[in-house]
Amino acid sequence: MSETGEEFDLLAIETLKSRYLQEGEKDWEDVCKRVAKAIALNRGEYTEFLDIILSKAFIPSSPTLMNAGTPSGQLSACFVIPVEDGIEKIFDSVKTAALIQKTGGGTGFNFSKIRPDGSVTVSGVGTASGPVALMRLFNEATEIVKHFGKRRGANMGILDISHNDIISFIRAKRTEGVLSNFNISVMLTDSFMSLADEGRMDEVWNTETGTKIGEIFSEIVEGIWRNGEPGVLFYDHINRDNFTPALGDISATNPCGEEPLLPFESCNLGSINLSILVEEGKVNRDSLREAVRKAVRFLDNEIDVNVYPVPEIEKATKKTRKIGLGVMGFHDMLLKLGLPYDSEEALRLAEKLMGQINRAAIRESEKLAAEKGPFPEYENSIWEFPVRNATLTAIAPTGTISILAGCSAGIEPVFSWVYRRARIAGKEFMLVHPLFETHFKQKLSKPDYNRLLEHVYAHGTLQDITDSKIVSEEEKGLFRSALDINWKTHIDIQAAFQRHCHAGISKTINMPVDAGKEDIGKALIYAWKQGLKGLTIYRTGSRQHVVLNLKKR
Ligand code: ADP
Repeated sequence: MSETGEEFDLLAIETLKSRYLQEGEKDWEDVCKRVAKAIALNRGEYTEFLDIILSKAFIPSSPTLMNAGTPSGQLSACFVIPVEDGIEKIFDSVKTAALIQKTGGGTGFNFSKIRPDGSVTVSGVGTASGPVALMRLFNEATEIVKHFGKRRGANMGILDISHNDIISFIRAKRTEGVLSNFNISVMLTDSFMSLADEGRMDEVWNTETGTKIGEIFSEIVEGIWRNGEPGVLFYDHINRDNFTPALGDISATNPCGEEPLLPFESCNLGSINLSILVEEGKVNRDSLREAVRKAVRFLDNEIDVNVYPVPEIEKATKKTRKIGLGVMGFHDMLLKLGLPYDSEEALRLAEKLMGQINRAAIRESEKLAAEKGPFPEYENSIWEFPVRNATLTAIAPTGTISILAGCSAGIEPVFSWVYRRARIAGKEFMLVHPLFETHFKQKLSKPDYNRLLEHVYAHGTLQDITDSKIVSEEEKGLFRSALDINWKTHIDIQAAFQRHCHAGISKTINMPVDAGKEDIGKALIYAWKQGLKGLTIYRTGSRQHVVLNLKKR
């Protein structure tokens, strides 16, 4: 299959214009030249960096594309800011978050050090207002910064499962529109999950509040079933991969969950476009290794040329030099190889690919360590040989950069083959997935093809088409989209990538609108058993505002 997708190109151009072009720049090449020049240390690197970005084999995340080579110079997408109990420190954290968001970075916080709502304050006067009230302060700050910044800010608010306010935290976003600049996540532990798995729902979890395991677990399930929040994070899995335990435990992630980080750490992201690595029905492994090699150098260089929002962030980031190399276009790669997303082959490919990427990234970081020295905290780390970066791999959502690349986002299955996007350049477009378009346009007559588009647009799927001349059984297998795929497969794919990824993965586990609460409970337990570091479930239609404008489903 070859790609067509004229509308996809238009969308990419529109996105480029509205977000990334600086004054005097006219196209993607201009952006790539500015970025490569800002990050390269010499002529040779410039050529290599320009080559991978221009060809869209690798694209750095939005802050780098927007700010590299500009007066801002802030290149990171991910930050974790500590929140301490006390007025002065709290407002320091708000300020740091504002400075980050102004430059397009996302901030994550664990609010568990904040005393519960109603506790007596140190001075004995008045009562504390608790984590949920405090999140409103951070949310408002983000709202204000929006008017100064390059993109609407994003926050992750986290609370530990043992905090006394956990129930009100889980319910914090139940009213639509509240805390709209936050994703919220509950930090779950192995001990809590084991008890829930064993069905010991009547046991008291928090002796101070008397709250039982079952009450908390069903509140989480209820929240997810209603509107997809809270997400969950698995503390023990995150800290299993803490490469620098001497620097403390990891208790927070960035907004989309792919970067568990220590307080004040930041991380640069970039993603390899898997889709374009398929040549004549095969994955070009040499090109993959080459792209990884260049990308690791690019992301490592960024740590030194980055302009940090506050000195604490520079200090923490340079101690561990974490980078987040990920992938996008996984589903497109599968389509080009003729493999259904929910197949054994897809799972095996996921393991193999990410294993290769991880190994190639480590090898390059080892070389960099020999050239320039390992990360400063290497002696205090669990690495057995010197590397330049404490962690190397993470899979981001690639929400915007996958549009620029014209490929499927991250490791997500395509959400729909046909959907209507908002107006582009004053015209309303019916967006058809390019590989779907090429395949069926070649096969069907024009009227049949148009009928197929109308059907898929109206029903959100082609699985219910009975005429095998229009869609064969084999095609039904290949063209399954996010909602045609079982939640278990979504989790299995995430787990396959997670096994070969140092940091975390941002992925949405889609469920159909008629999924029950018991499915959500089962998915939480299953994801924990599969070793995921976090989980986001979204039941279609449960939120009024749906990003993709599907008619039904
Ligand atoms: P992109 O495709 O624009 O590079 P991603 O969708 O991959 O970005 O998101 C990567 C990370 O960037 C997120 O996990 C988050 O930390 C940060 N981020 C994403 N969107 C925003 C936003 N609107 N404001 C601030 N940070 C964001």
